[in-house]
Amino acid sequence: MNATFAEPSVCEAISQPVDPDARLLGYIRSTSFDRPTLVLDLERIEAQYHALKAGLGHADIHYAVKANPAPEILTRLVGLGAHFDAASRAEIEACLEHGARPAHISYGNTIKRPADIAYAHAQGIALFAADAVEELDKIAAHAPNAQVYIRVIVEASGADWPLTRKFGTSRETVLGLIEHAQAVGLTPRGLSFHVGSQTRDPMMWADTLDQIAAVWHAAQAAGHGLDLLNIGGGFPAFYGDDIPHPTAYARAVMDQVHARFGDVAQIMAEPGRGLVGEAGMIAAEVLLVSRKSTDDLCRWVYLDIGKFSGLAETMDEAIRYQFITERDHEVTGPCILAGPSCDSADVLYEKRPVQLPLGLKGGDKIIIRACGAYTSTYASVGFNGFPPLDVVAI
Ligand SMILES: *Cc1c(COP(=O)(O)O)cnc(C)c1O
Repeated sequence: MNATFAEPSVCEAISQPVDPDARLLGYIRSTSFDRPTLVLDLERIEAQYHALKAGLGHADIHYAVKANPAPEILTRLVGLGAHFDAASRAEIEACLEHGARPAHISYGNTIKRPADIAYAHAQGIALFAADAVEELDKIAAHAPNAQVYIRVIVEASGADWPLTRKFGTSRETVLGLIEHAQAVGLTPRGLSFHVGSQTRDPMMWADTLDQIAAVWHAAQAAGHGLDLLNIGGGFPAFYGDDIPHPTAYARAVMDQVHARFGDVAQIMAEPGRGLVGEAGMIAAEVLLVSRKSTDDLCRWVYLDIGKFSGLAETMDEAIRYQFITERDHEVTGPCILAGPSCDSADVLYEKRPVQLPLGLKGGDKIIIRACGAYTSTYASVGFNGFPPLDVVAI
């Protein structure tokens, strides 16, 4: 087809890319909510899945279910051919219930309940993570002959939400664990790590990949034919600081992986935030705007959602959400932002105040962007009587 013959409307559609936020904003602005509600755009998750997949090449996407286990997300991802990384019996049940095949589910938590290992094994799940001798013994006892990968601890890499220290084993103990796995009848397949959640720059993976590659090659040299590399999550969402396009990001990571590891038979990637983060927005409301003294420079803005009802990742002000109000054309000023509960820890941003319109007042609607990951799962069942976050998928 010669482009010069295209209809004007087609040219327009090509030259004006659709605003990816339009669907969510349109829905939220035309709907009234009686409590804070996370609205998820399934189309956007699907587009993001394809974008990541295009950059990840032959690596399998195991969606990190803990980021958001909404049934609609799981169903959509099963339809797209995604695999899943589950951390508990309930997450495994959710995956199976929404159509995932056991062979496509990994049990990636390194701290598992024996009964849950037995359950997973009975369901046909064959791939487990471990980072300790005792955990390998548990797996051998309750999932005999299972395949395992060893989670390796990594040093802080520059991620906004680091996942160091608690998970993984130090590099010098990995070989011993591989040998132990074999001794107890398991099949050690490879290694896993997590570079840290919200790693904005793909070049921040370099050090971590160097560390893991050193262990990988040492294990190969010792005769362990490893054939599985699990590169974990870390893929970023947009919270205001520039990040690369997901395909470019994933490709840059995979280029670094191939440069260090060569051809690996099976590569797993476990995006959570990077797959669903931007696909959700929270519809919330301002409950009160006040000044604590007449010369207070910062206003206090209290929302109907806080640390205990979905915004836990504001801890240490690590994740900085962006806000949309109906007064965004007005002059702004600095605000300390807080949640509604009677706990003084329920302050979202104070060290770095948030700029919000000077006219903002109680009753105003406020939309919080990029809330698709780690919000609904972090909402308490009802601390202080505030209900957990409501979730709607469109
Ligand atoms: C939480 C988690 C992920 C997802 O991390 P993101 O940074 O959200 O992509 C992946 N793998 C494991 C083992 C996890 O615990």
